Amino acid sequence: MTSYPKLQLYIAGQWRSSKETIPVLNPADETVIGALPVASRADLDDALAAAAKGFRIWSRTAPAKRAEVILRAVALIKERSEEIARSITMEHGKPIAQARLEVQRGCEFFEWDAGEAVRSYGRVIPSEPDIRYIVIHQPVGTVAAFSPWNFPMSQPARKIAGAIASGCSIILKAAEETPAGALHIARAFHDAGLPAGVLNLVFGVPADISSYLIPQEQVRLVAFTGSTAVGKHLTEIASRSVTPVLMELGGHAPVIVCDDVDPIRAAELSVSRKARNSGQVCTSPTRFFVHKNIYRSFLDAFVERAKTVRVGDGFDANTDMGPVANHRRVEAIETLVEDARDRGAQILAGGTKPTGKGYFYPLTVAAELPDGARALEVEPFGPLALINPVDSVEEAIERANALPFGLAAYGFTHSAHNAHMLAERIEAGNVSINTLEASVAETPFGGVKESGYGREGGAEGLHHYMTVKNISHRMV
Ligand code: NAD
Repeated sequence: MTSYPKLQLYIAGQWRSSKETIPVLNPADETVIGALPVASRADLDDALAAAAKGFRIWSRTAPAKRAEVILRAVALIKERSEEIARSITMEHGKPIAQARLEVQRGCEFFEWDAGEAVRSYGRVIPSEPDIRYIVIHQPVGTVAAFSPWNFPMSQPARKIAGAIASGCSIILKAAEETPAGALHIARAFHDAGLPAGVLNLVFGVPADISSYLIPQEQVRLVAFTGSTAVGKHLTEIASRSVTPVLMELGGHAPVIVCDDVDPIRAAELSVSRKARNSGQVCTSPTRFFVHKNIYRSFLDAFVERAKTVRVGDGFDANTDMGPVANHRRVEAIETLVEDARDRGAQILAGGTKPTGKGYFYPLTVAAELPDGARALEVEPFGPLALINPVDSVEEAIERANALPFGLAAYGFTHSAHNAHMLAERIEAGNVSINTLEASVAETPFGGVKESGYGREGGAEGLHHYMTVKNISHRMV
């Protein structure tokens, strides 16, 4: 049994503790597993000074050398992957198999961005023979980054990979509830020889840290993953100093099930994807719009399968779905389910929190929700699936697009015509047909509308971490 790591801040290449700490809980039994150091103003000032120094060194380090350090760190993360996965399950609750996959995924993000570092090409623009226009990409500067608790390792990995591959320095405030994933990444980079100050890791009261770091002149990018409300707030702070932002915010993913597919298979895949991470994924399939011709068979298969999802401790080999991350999520889901019930929706599976310790909530299916039900408008960010019939694909697309969100959207169909229509007309950064995967290292991930701004991953992944400079050179 691995013990939970000692939590520390990582500033200027050194590990440090703090007087003030916040308890870290295991959501499966609510026991205290760690003491999180809270960064003081002096710690943040030190992190800024270190990041300025780190940027001077790192921005002048060849991309191939940067990639070398990243790949060395990845090798260490892989060596330590079991220990990292276990600490993720302890602090987050997800089944250990999912924690292992998360570590693997985090490594893929690093490997991809390391590859992109050496491909951040500029271009030469043809013009008059005695003048040459050259466009180059340069690292933007110090990045202030904020990662959430739903993927303790792969969320920080996204931000750290983008910044370090581009030649930026970064001050990351990782999630207070799940700090170990980011801590393990910092350890690996420390051991891999990353120069001091390039990566700084802090924890504390989120609003105190963001309101202090973002207005600093030295901070040239704010990268945030979390709720739309907080993203808007941080964008407002950044706008005062015209600091660019990379915002990966909330979603409320629609799933359109056309009548030309096998409803049973679509339902089975949907349940297993809905249960992943207890539904706490910004791309989690949530609003199901199912063609009336197959609605009944889809719903019955979904409900039957949802009832078999075993909820429990993430270390138990029989567990399909762990607890949700904190009491806020339990309360949020309970409120949405109550509201749906009061408005006449059918709650066909789950719907009641079990008694006893731990933030457990069963996979819950609500069907035939009337317009106005809160769950149809507010992202549940938990194990709640909403299933409604529709008369046509057109109606489903209209309903899918009705919300201010546009992150991930899904469709099930064998018809090229339907697939084309879904891909073209759904307002989302990511549309997946016949798969519920929305984000892999090699593709750009991000949202439209209030789901955010900018992309992580793919060939676009480093764009936000770099500025574009045009050089006009006349031969004399
Ligand atoms: P929340 O809005 O309080 O916090 C969301 C995240 O933002 C947390 O990681 C938190 O530490 C951080 N945060 C909050 N206030 C901040 C501030 N002033 N400055 C910097 N960071 C700040 O909500 P919550 O209860 O922790 O999470 C629930 C909601 O968050 C969900 O409804 C979901 O929409 C969103 N969320 C989204 C993602 C994602 O992957 N897009 C991940 C986690 C949470």
